[in-house]
Amino acid sequence: MQVGNRVRRVVILGGGTAGWMTATALAKTFGPRVSITLLESEEIGTVGVGEATIPTIHWFNELIGLDESDFLRATKASFKLGIEFVDWARPGHRYFHPFGQYGIALPGVPFHQRWLKACRDGLGLPLSDFSLATRLASQNRFAKPAGGAQSILSTLGYAFHFDASLYARHLRSLAEAGGVTRIEGKLSTVERDGESGFVSALLTEAGDRLDGDLFVDCSGFRALLIEGEMQAGYEDWSHWLPCDRAAAVPCERMDKTTPYTRSTARAAGWQWRIPLQHRTGNGYVYASEFVSDDEAAATLLANLDGAALGDPQLLRFKAGRRRRTWIGNVVAIGLSSGFLEPLESTSIHLIQSSIAKLLTLFPDRDCDPGLALQFDRLIAADLDEIRDFLILHYHATSDKPEPLWNHCRHMALPDTLIEKQEHYRRSGRLMLGANELFREASWLAVLNGQGVLAEDYSPLADALDPATNRAQLEQIAGVVTRAASHLPMHDDVIAQAISASDALSPADAVNG
Ligand code: FAD
Repeated sequence: MQVGNRVRRVVILGGGTAGWMTATALAKTFGPRVSITLLESEEIGTVGVGEATIPTIHWFNELIGLDESDFLRATKASFKLGIEFVDWARPGHRYFHPFGQYGIALPGVPFHQRWLKACRDGLGLPLSDFSLATRLASQNRFAKPAGGAQSILSTLGYAFHFDASLYARHLRSLAEAGGVTRIEGKLSTVERDGESGFVSALLTEAGDRLDGDLFVDCSGFRALLIEGEMQAGYEDWSHWLPCDRAAAVPCERMDKTTPYTRSTARAAGWQWRIPLQHRTGNGYVYASEFVSDDEAAATLLANLDGAALGDPQLLRFKAGRRRRTWIGNVVAIGLSSGFLEPLESTSIHLIQSSIAKLLTLFPDRDCDPGLALQFDRLIAADLDEIRDFLILHYHATSDKPEPLWNHCRHMALPDTLIEKQEHYRRSGRLMLGANELFREASWLAVLNGQGVLAEDYSPLADALDPATNRAQLEQIAGVVTRAASHLPMHDDVIAQAISASDALSPADAVNG
């Protein structure tokens, strides 16, 4: 046993969402056994966007023991049941990518194979009729998953929209309460050990010195340690995902807070709408090859649901991933490790996924290179799989003559995506790896939504009696419709949730 060789000092460079999520998670996990210091520069600031999440956020919230009511209040959050895609497959078309499941699990044959068979047997109901989340979103209602596998409520899933700067502030207060030391200042020098090449200290312009055993690079797109010092290299994916800029601006809140993100395709990209309690977040993600910054900003401002609350902020990025995300004693988390545009709100998920992997592979001071290799492999797989899912949205479109959409419709796809599309087309089969983030319901939603349709179903479904199968599906669609009409409005759920911990809980009452 080499307990003496344990990592005792972690230094985090950067105090954006990635830096504070990492700090909070490490402090919660290791307590006082590991000292954690975070260096951030108010002058440089954070990227300031990143407001929509996916349901894996619950893992992180549980890890750090987040109180949901406090969190909703502190970050002005709303609930999210999925994403509405407008004008994506073709102009005038819309579909919903819901969290949770379609239908109710019945033994033997996957639900969507039952649906494909029933459609062949004359059922005229679209897939969306079997998603309670989709139905709720269309009525501005919201509910959390509940009940056993046979309850339609158990098929729901949810995430949050929140104000990114309030989220970082909230995490900072939790992290500092957990013992994390924050240093304000700009990095000036990185000190390296001459023999091992490991980073030994960060020095600030003001003369502070941060010694550490392990350094986490959360410096955002600058990637000051993993690229600036360790020269990890970058795999550029802009030929598949050509959008490289965004104009972002908040506007006044809508009358009703929608429980979903809206993504509307535009001539050279797409526009997001993220509803919060106090305002709505908006942004136009675009390919600078096909539209100027001024034109993009004008398009964004012309398509807001309320008065703009400032001038559009311009952000630049390049889709891709760092070739290595852990080198020596430097681990990259967040934008420093790579970037996939926010079409499916995956960046915050990738931060927590990196945190989870870092915890599982947490090294001793010698930083066994085998751990770094495994970390790199796992992160690369995460990003590759999400990349394919995003490309599908851009590629499977019709009747969109603009250069961006033409390019994407005709571009050569990654083999992994070709394989997935073809299997689905041929037999309705979803060929997913065990660890893929987006599961059956997500692929079904986007394949069908973008017009990639199954021509057959699995032979497994041949055993189903056509009339019984159809009747069962019609019954499930009926349950979805009836259940939705009884569930509460989204704004009422938010109002109740943010006042929840003000009220005395039954347990508080019992314990005095
Ligand atoms: P940053 O926020 O850039 O933080 C970097 C930190 O490093 C800052 O504190 C900065 O001060 C510090 N720093 C940098 N240089 C120095 C220095 N020299 N000295 C000291 N400190 C320094 N993600 C989602 O999950 N959902 C979304 O809806 C979403 N939308 C997005 C939209 C756009 C247009 C973009 C660009 C990103 C979006 N993201 C989204 C991604 C999300 O914003 C990021 O993953 C998240 O904010 C994490 O950023 P970060 O902490 O890695 O970097």
